[in-house]
Amino acid sequence: MTARVVVGDFEITLVRAGFYWWDGGAMFGVVPKTLWSRRFEADEANRVRLGFNCYVIRTGEHTILVETGAGDKPDAKARERMKLAAALALPEIVAGQGIDPESIDIVINTHLHFDHCGGNTVLTSGRARPAFPRARYYTRRGEWEHAHERHVRDRISYIDANYDPLVESRQMQLLDADFEIAPGIEMKLAPGHNRDMTVVTATSSGQTFCFFSDLVPTAAHVTPSWIAAFDLFPLQAIDTKSRWLEKAAEGGWICGFAHEPEMAFARIVKTEESFLASACPADRQTGVPVLP
Ligand SMILES: [Zn+2]
Repeated sequence: MTARVVVGDFEITLVRAGFYWWDGGAMFGVVPKTLWSRRFEADEANRVRLGFNCYVIRTGEHTILVETGAGDKPDAKARERMKLAAALALPEIVAGQGIDPESIDIVINTHLHFDHCGGNTVLTSGRARPAFPRARYYTRRGEWEHAHERHVRDRISYIDANYDPLVESRQMQLLDADFEIAPGIEMKLAPGHNRDMTVVTATSSGQTFCFFSDLVPTAAHVTPSWIAAFDLFPLQAIDTKSRWLEKAAEGGWICGFAHEPEMAFARIVKTEESFLASACPADRQTGVPVLP
């Protein structure tokens, strides 16, 4: 199934690098299970099904891959814990969506948790090589530095083979500030999940696509107080998220979530006290065709 939208002159495709199962309590933090279980059905180990969502933005000039999923580095134990099927390599998944993986010339990592940059590199005889040799990779310098701090709270989320070889070869550029990667494509700081995570916006002819990354991991997380237990700065996550959702609702943006298992693209609707995510239907009149 292909899910694709047109945003101005850009064409944006969901590339789901597989599904995984993760503890529902960790996903929803202080939200009681009696509430979140209305949205997600948990398995016998209390895990819920989630996606590794990547998006390809084709601007005409550039082919930009946002995130690269979990890749090939999680070991057998981790794969079992997440019920990870033997995954195809990301370039093959990209090709399966009708996009030539060789055409990818920019890769964006919103942050460096293993589930967002695992497909940056592939392991061959113990050596990590770039999965997208032509591409320039981007992430925030503060995030890369934090990855190397190895804090006991989140060191499990970082696997250096996903980024260090690219930093060493200078194929990955570490950013110190918000940055326009290509005309209309921006990485902007959105702290809360961690200190240096970014969101990605793609704006063309007055229309905007926004990838929220783990600021809004699933459509259920548009309720501002529904945040994951692993967000490092919960109050900041709520404030940052509320601000971005407000902008998305006002601007009529088309949005993508990092781990949403169903909705490929959504618009944000502001209600009296909260927000709703409304799936983008196949609708030629609004110029937002989501092709089945
Ligand atoms: Zn994530």
